[in-house]
This record gives sequence, structure tokens and C-alpha cells, in this order.
Amino acid sequence: MTRHFKHLLITASIFSVFASGCAHRSENSTTKIMPKNSISTSANPDIQKLASLALNNSYGYDITRSLTTEIGPRLAGSVGEARARDWAVEKFKALGFTNIKNEAFPVRGWVRGVETAEILSPFPQSLVITALGGSVATPQTGIQASVAYFATYDDLINAPMGSLDGKIAYISGRMDKHIDGAGYGPANQKRQTGATEAAKRGALAVLIRSVGTDSHRFPHTGQMRYDDAVKKIPIAAMSAPDADQMDRIFALTQKSGKEVEISLRLLPRDIGELQSGNVMAEIVGTEKPEEIILIGAHLDSWDMATGAVDDGAGVGIVMGAAKVLMDSGLKPKRTIRVVLFGAEEVGLIGAFAYAKAHQDELGQHVLATESDFGAGRIYGIQAGKYAATQAWVAAIAPEFAYLGIKAKDGITSGGPDIIPLNMAGVPTMRLNQDGTDYFDLHHTPDDTFDKIDPKSMQQNVAAYATLIWLASEADTNFRD
Ligand SMILES: [Zn+2]
Repeated sequence: MTRHFKHLLITASIFSVFASGCAHRSENSTTKIMPKNSISTSANPDIQKLASLALNNSYGYDITRSLTTEIGPRLAGSVGEARARDWAVEKFKALGFTNIKNEAFPVRGWVRGVETAEILSPFPQSLVITALGGSVATPQTGIQASVAYFATYDDLINAPMGSLDGKIAYISGRMDKHIDGAGYGPANQKRQTGATEAAKRGALAVLIRSVGTDSHRFPHTGQMRYDDAVKKIPIAAMSAPDADQMDRIFALTQKSGKEVEISLRLLPRDIGELQSGNVMAEIVGTEKPEEIILIGAHLDSWDMATGAVDDGAGVGIVMGAAKVLMDSGLKPKRTIRVVLFGAEEVGLIGAFAYAKAHQDELGQHVLATESDFGAGRIYGIQAGKYAATQAWVAAIAPEFAYLGIKAKDGITSGGPDIIPLNMAGVPTMRLNQDGTDYFDLHHTPDDTFDKIDPKSMQQNVAAYATLIWLASEADTNFRD
């Protein structure tokens, strides 16, 4: 999608705030075309300072490039994730943050193995698949069985018990594209509980159409869940074109009455308890240092790619925004805490570990939010459940107009890793990113740094910097 924004001229006086370096370009001209990435200028001189830094530099983009290039994939509990924690500690130090902490917690280790699927009859050919996270393995030699076709997850739920004895279940069903990812929840049911529901009906294994919105030959992984009371059977996702192929084949065989036979071999392994961790750092507040504004992202990724949009972008955005505030010379009254959560992908393990480890200070968390929806431009600002937070968000929304951001209706939990804090009563809000294309890449081998638009990253960093500054200065009790 192409967007057009007015180019505006402002004087360079506001560049005097440039002090230390997060890969700044040198600024020595007296006038400059800026903000290239905004639609107007803020009337607030503090926000002008933040905007000039965020929109003329590559704070977030550079951090995301560093993480995805120097670390690579970061599966929960893996050596890559451990290296990412070391990277985060060093990056926070280099950027000048204080109170840097690396808080460990245990996580269940799982590694992908051989994964192949082949149609044996009536039209022999191979399929591009990948195991869902947490899946058990097939026998070493694989499973050869006829396939029961379900156009939707609901069709599987409506199938009688025992009707899948000795079969592989295939669950099709497309995911719709939405700016806010509204298609994800419904499409994700088959990923989350497809194995359990198919096993209850006697199935040996499950194949699903990937939960995604692209038409490329990449399967989408993602965590699945077992019910301990039900037999655990292997589950894999196939790419969208392979799922289309299956749909065409079943359209033919349902007329001819022929069986579709598939051979499936999945050899992932549970490798026992491993260590994960949350890394955090602060800009300590000048007047109310005990009051915490938390901005988070998650450090882990899936194993098949470098996790650029999920969630390397979020890491760059929140670290970059806090660094912009630091470099602006503005001194926040409240403490800004940047939290990089571990093991998000495998079930918000780091988020719950943080809420537990910090339970005694959750009352001092005045506001919490997370960037975990890719690198698309922010279009909305949305409050959590408290009336005071809602009133504050409505009042400050005009301060974001210079970035094309408007107040958004509805109540947010603040982001995936903020859910446990929201449940514990911490006020939340969210800057809503355009996620129309997010699920084209999500959890695929194609989630790589080249997909990130540096201009969108600037806009995100400007929005988060504006947010944490306004939240640190607000007299609001966000909990009322
Ligand atoms: Zn994520």
C-alpha cells in the first residue's frame, strides 16, 4: 500500500538536542525537509524534539537489524534466545540505559526434526509442511493413512466420535485479512485445538491449512496445545498453495469416491527443561521514580526465520523510542521500563514469569503496553479497561495527529505479553499498527529483515517516544 504524506519544512533549531549517538546521521544544515514521515507538525515543543529525532534517524530500524543479523532465529530456550539476551544486555548498556536486568525462568524445550508429507494416491506428489510448535512425533517410519477432509474447523467439531479411526484429518479454512488481525482468532482454532479434537474422534495425525494470509509456498508454524486427558497426535501445517491443491484434489475425489492417501513423517523432539529469560532496563524517573511505565516487546522468535516482524521490529521500536527520549534531553518524571520478554511464542511464558517476579511492584506499574504486531504504521491509539485511562487516551490522541494516528474505539489488553499484567490490574493501552499484511509473513521462513520498511519504523518510534513522554508527565491516576 502506498501512502502519500506532505513534506514539511522546519528550522533546524530543534536539532540542537542531538547529543549522543544511536547511529545518527550528522546534522549540520540550517534547514531541513522534515518530518518526511509525518502528516503535520506537533504544536508541543517537547514532542517536536522527539519527532525530529525519531523521524530523521533510524533508531528502531538499526536495533532490529542488529538483532536479526547478529543473532538470527531465537526459539524459546534455544542457544539463539540465550545469545539474544546477552545481545540485549549489551545493547541496553551501549545505549546508556540503567538498572539492566536479565531474569531467568524455565521453559520446555522443543526442536523441529525431519518433516515430510506426500500424497501417495490418487495423485502422487509432495507437500510443503512444517510441524506446529509442541507437536509430538510420528513413528520414525511415518504414518500412511487415508485422509478425512474438513472444509472448516467447525466441520471437524461436528464429526461423530470414532469417525476418524485410523485416518489423518485435514482441516482447510482460509484466514481473512484485516487491519487489526481480526481473522487470526477464528483461523487459529484449528492450530490450537485441532489435534485434540481430531484425536477425540480417533485420528492418527492432523494436517491444517496454514494460519496465514499469503499465497506463497511457506508453511506457518505456531504453538499448539494438547489436552492431557486426550491422546497426543502429531500436527503439521501446509503452505497455502499446498492447501489449495488439497482442496482441488478433494473436490475431485469426493465426486469419484476415491480415497486420498498420505504419508506423513514428523520427527520433532521434546528436549526437556531449558532456560529462558526476560531482559529489562530503565530510564529512571526524576520525580516519581517508583512509578513505572512499561513498554515491551518479545525477544524470542520462531525457529525458521530471524523473526524480523515477529518481534524483532517491536524490540527495535520500544528500545529505539526510549533511546529517543534519552537523547532528546527531556527528563521523564516517571520511570520508563523497557521489557524484552522471552518465550512469548510458546505460550506467554516470559510474560507470566515477569508478572510473578514483579508481583510486589505491580501496584506501581502505572501503564503498560507492547509492540508485537510487526512493523506496519500505527493508525490508532486505544485504551484498556479503566475509565481514567480511556479519558487520558482520548485527551492525548490529538498529540498523535502529526503521525496520522487517531483515537480508536474498543478496549485493549495492551498486547500479548501484557495480558498477565492486565489480569493483575495494571492499566494498559495500545498503539495499533496496520497489520493487514502481517500474517503473510508471521511464523514463516520468510519473516526476515528485508520486509521491514524503515519509514514505518521511524513513525512507530516517534509514536512510542511521544507516548512514554506524555505518560511520564501525566497527572492522571490511570487506574481510576
Ligand atoms: Zn509476536
